[in-house]
Amino acid sequence: MTAAREVVAGVDIGGTTTQVVLCAADLGVLDRLDVPTPAAEGGAVMVGAALDTLRRLLDRTPGRLLGVGVGAAGVVDAGAGRILVASDSFRDWAGFPVTATVEEELGVPAFLDNDVNAFLRGEVARGAVAGERYVLGMTLGTGVGGALWLDGALYDGPHGAAGEIGHVPGFGELRCTCGGRGHLETLASGRSIAARYAERTGRSGATARLIAERAALGDVDARSVYETAGAAVARAILLTAGLLDVTTFVIGGGVSRAWTLLEPSIQRTLTTEPPVSGRPLTVLPASLNADAVALGAASRARTELGTVTGPSGGLNLNAGIPRRS
Ligand SMILES: [Zn+2]
Repeated sequence: MTAAREVVAGVDIGGTTTQVVLCAADLGVLDRLDVPTPAAEGGAVMVGAALDTLRRLLDRTPGRLLGVGVGAAGVVDAGAGRILVASDSFRDWAGFPVTATVEEELGVPAFLDNDVNAFLRGEVARGAVAGERYVLGMTLGTGVGGALWLDGALYDGPHGAAGEIGHVPGFGELRCTCGGRGHLETLASGRSIAARYAERTGRSGATARLIAERAALGDVDARSVYETAGAAVARAILLTAGLLDVTTFVIGGGVSRAWTLLEPSIQRTLTTEPPVSGRPLTVLPASLNADAVALGAASRARTELGTVTGPSGGLNLNAGIPRRS
């Protein structure tokens, strides 16, 4: 009888869906399952639903679980493994001790990241920017998120706020959802694309996705709001490249699915205002889609556990992993 395969799990607790992946040591996805997030029922029920889903995965794809990474929307204390600030759609989520709960239930180490940091970890581990060492990740979703990968590791800064390019001013004068003015988010989020299109046309109610469909059919106003979003994203790229010499950029989130609308405008701006390094910048759409956050969370767990593939191809674990029982 062979020893049980060693696996790590990644959990993405989003506003509507909780996605769980089971990964091998090389982060190849062995199995995945998603369930609705019971966001209105509180943190204990949400984490309970994620753990039930993980147990179902382990039943049908057996392995020896080494650790769990969790990616969650909102502001998180990655060190303490708890949620600090959550949106109104989550009940009893702010303050919830995510990693302590998972460790108590499963008896393996657990780690927490915010979802944008986890997204970038995933794309660097197995996605569009696999193996790159200097990357800015941006998510163009309902809002705009950002995360930084410097010298081969996530850089989150002393307050966990590094890479938050969505809320830097200098992108006009429009009021942002955060209360600030002229932030990138006012031009490049899904909500902003919808708002800017409504202002131009007097027709409200169209989603960013519908506006992308109209752009593809030649709607001039629809094309224009996507061009503006792309140019703003490019300016954020140039700021980051100028400040940190970051070479590679990966753009995810629902708005990035309209890549054929965004990319020409991004590239045009980068050509007009080349970075001070004089070196070309690589800008790519995310490639892991729904797996990115969960896979990135699993990647964090693997990194923290110090798992490495030994010379024999087997899995070695560093000593001294704090373990709860
Ligand atoms: Zn803002």
